[in-house]
Amino acid sequence: MEPPTAIKRRLNELGLRSRLRARPRAQGRVLAPAGLFRRLPSAPGLYFPFYHDVLPEYAGDLRHHLETLGRIGPMIGWDEALTLLAGTRPLTGPVFCLSFDDAHLSWRDVVVPVLRELAVPATFFLTTGLVGRPGNLTWADCREIREAGFAFGSHTVTHTRLADRSDAEAGHEIAGSKREIEDELGAEVRDFAAPYGYPGVDFTERDVRLAKESGYRSFATTLRPAMHAGDSPMWICRQGLHPAWPIMAVRTRVHD
Ligand SMILES: [Zn+2]
Repeated sequence: MEPPTAIKRRLNELGLRSRLRARPRAQGRVLAPAGLFRRLPSAPGLYFPFYHDVLPEYAGDLRHHLETLGRIGPMIGWDEALTLLAGTRPLTGPVFCLSFDDAHLSWRDVVVPVLRELAVPATFFLTTGLVGRPGNLTWADCREIREAGFAFGSHTVTHTRLADRSDAEAGHEIAGSKREIEDELGAEVRDFAAPYGYPGVDFTERDVRLAKESGYRSFATTLRPAMHAGDSPMWICRQGLHPAWPIMAVRTRVHD
């Protein structure tokens, strides 16, 4: 049992954190000093940075992040990342595999143009229940993004915390979203990203098993370490970033 002061402190931290999340530039400035003690990666390792919404005012910042990472190592697609995890060829330096979560309209208007300009591949993890809602993509948008050469994975139906759901509900979130994306896009969906993504809190081993049984080949978490050949594709570690963050703040998430 935590003493009341510790609980209070924790609540204050959470309050601060959610206030900062609403103000990403300020959040980046708060994170940046911790980046002093970190360096962007130089050793061999596979990194999976990911973003959510990228509002038009952050297009230049996203480009700056991707150019900075791209100078350190190649940006590869999800298929190739999985072959590196399988050990088909040795990692000789840092490698980056990019993804985006939810169903933001800005993927169409901001993200895809930047990715095409820089020739950076990416996977979009789609929450199917958001598609067609205000501020989100339509299925026609998703088809257009797919036709532009980008990959789609599933990020559940309702963006629920899977750990809180019954077996049947979790099964629907994991398998139902896969089926719906496959029906709408006419392509197999084999990659899954758990909402919130923290093991034991946001999802459990049960959900990894359900994903495997539903035909997924990979399962993404929000644990942050670099990955290497031999690591499980059913436990992908991704580093959540916001384009508004200065590179010093990026260094707190993507580092050796
Ligand atoms: Zn999400």
